[in-house]
Amino acid sequence: VSYILSRGFEVECEAPVRATRDFKFQALGRRAETRAVVLHWTGGRRGAAGVFETLRERGLSVHFVVEADGTVWQFADCDRRCSHAGPANGWSIGIEIVNPAGATLSAKDSADGRTVAECSIRGRRVRHASFTAAQTRSALALTRAVCAAWGLPFRARAGEGTATARELADFRGVLGHYEISDQKTDPGRGILDLVNEAGP
Ligand SMILES: [Zn+2]
Repeated sequence: VSYILSRGFEVECEAPVRATRDFKFQALGRRAETRAVVLHWTGGRRGAAGVFETLRERGLSVHFVVEADGTVWQFADCDRRCSHAGPANGWSIGIEIVNPAGATLSAKDSADGRTVAECSIRGRRVRHASFTAAQTRSALALTRAVCAAWGLPFRARAGEGTATARELADFRGVLGHYEISDQKTDPGRGILDLVNEAGP
């Protein structure tokens, strides 16, 4: 059994979770409200160290990253305010999934056991690598653990496009980044459908 850190307490999670002082976003304040878990993909194939470095350089941050082999890295306590989803930063917990997409897609990805997948977002076809089986399991287990820790429904909106401000104002559960920003397509729709198929 592994644990995530939430409000200073260890909470059980059925995915391998690691943390190190080297990959820790420091001095982030507490978030006032928690209504959602926001899932992302990184768009590249760099692991936790690379993701941490890239975010820090850009003045961004996130709570978790799920690597291709299913290892979960925690970069901040769940109660911190991380900068991963613009207007949702103040009420959500962020999970990055390491996954090539768009221009970074290549034949190399089949070596990870990935295939090219496609989904429709805002009426447009989006090509991305499929998540590996191990990281799909870990992403679902992690999302479930975070939802349980914060009393959120383990249920995704899994919409075709961006949610309205009104929808977001009432929302409780799991969102994809593309549902918050017109500029984004991550994390595709497949993982959100899997959340709903896995059920409460
Ligand atoms: Zn994102």
